[in-house]
Amino acid sequence: MNDLTPPPPALGCRTSPVLKQRGQREVFCGLTGIIWLHRKIQDAFFLVVGSRTCAHLLQSAAGVMIFAEPRFGTAILEEGDLAGLNDAHKELDREVARLLSRRPDIRQLFLVGSCPSEVIKLDLSRAAERLTKEFAPKVRVLEYSGSGIETTFTQGEDACLASMVPVLPETDARELLVVGALPDVVEDQMLGLLDDMGIGPVRVLPARNIDAEMGIGKNTVYALTQPFLSDTHAALERRGAKHIQAPFPLGEEGTTAWLAAVAKEFGVDRALFDRVTEAPRRRARQAVAAAAETLNGKTVFFFPDSQLEIPLARFLARECGMTPLEVGSPYIHDALHGPDLDLLPEGPQISEGQDVDLQLERCRELRPDLTVCGLGLANPLEAEGLSTKWAIELVFTPVHFYEQAGDLAALFARPIRRKSTLNHGES
Ligand code: SF4
Repeated sequence: MNDLTPPPPALGCRTSPVLKQRGQREVFCGLTGIIWLHRKIQDAFFLVVGSRTCAHLLQSAAGVMIFAEPRFGTAILEEGDLAGLNDAHKELDREVARLLSRRPDIRQLFLVGSCPSEVIKLDLSRAAERLTKEFAPKVRVLEYSGSGIETTFTQGEDACLASMVPVLPETDARELLVVGALPDVVEDQMLGLLDDMGIGPVRVLPARNIDAEMGIGKNTVYALTQPFLSDTHAALERRGAKHIQAPFPLGEEGTTAWLAAVAKEFGVDRALFDRVTEAPRRRARQAVAAAAETLNGKTVFFFPDSQLEIPLARFLARECGMTPLEVGSPYIHDALHGPDLDLLPEGPQISEGQDVDLQLERCRELRPDLTVCGLGLANPLEAEGLSTKWAIELVFTPVHFYEQAGDLAALFARPIRRKSTLNHGES
């Protein structure tokens, strides 16, 4: 099905020199992932073992969310814990017992490490083991780190999913596992397309609840929908599952290439593939074209933030006519990002990691039409007359697969249109 999408460029970016930077970085920590994960995994509770700062981050990132029964919280480490005066394990056990007795709906509990828990070397894996013994089989207790020392922004989801892989049961069944948290409506669209092609059984990780979970084994094949899942990918490979490499399903081309790779693995014939995808592909192309009028011929600069940067640059270059000047990503992993790098035409500086001052200098010198960056950098750059797009919006907005391709292009077009409206207003 290689002729389904435009040919790759004569020279892509997979072998381009990568500028590796290891300086100060300006990104959220992995706790942020709880904001979308707690909605996705409906019987889970995320207990952050952290400080008041962590609690504030969660509350403000989550916005004003009043739940009758919230599904995340913070076990606050007080000064006595940090100074090693109290037995933090005992206090944690007490908090967990109190929580689980009040909330019989919780079936999975994630203990989430933070900078403070890491600094005092609180061993959460030991705590999770101990608590699992105490509360199994009713509740499964797992742990992962969302600390800003170890993780950036989207790595929280990766760490969470990776913590689930080793405890999933063994199976010999040949099943497709789709990995990555997608909004339910997008997940349902994706499952509908796969079902129409006769591909199945299909499982998703994370499952919406523990009873819908799947087994893993040598006959499991998996496709990732998010480019930031390198630890989960490694954990699945350790269980013997096979990765279907593909560009990520962002934009019409990315979605078609992703579906084609899965369809090939399951021997779907070309006529059926075309029949299932033809109408949504046409709709996606039309929707992207409307926003691409604003984007065509414009330049874009990506600061490293969500790890979505490489597939997004590929989408903007190939479907919207933009020219990426620099594409920064916190981490680049060949097995995950290689297929998108192959399609990204050579030219942009590819950078991994961050030294924020040096990168700001490069951005100011290039003066791109659009800069994609974190919240902390966006305001100063706007004040300097640059148009910006908040990277975090790209994670919180449904952007994957065909029906969202137009919205994805529109997210980038909006700041450019706004700037041009303001400029006209001034003249
Ligand atoms: Fe801040 Fe670290 Fe807590 Fe994240 S985990 S909110 S970076 S203290």
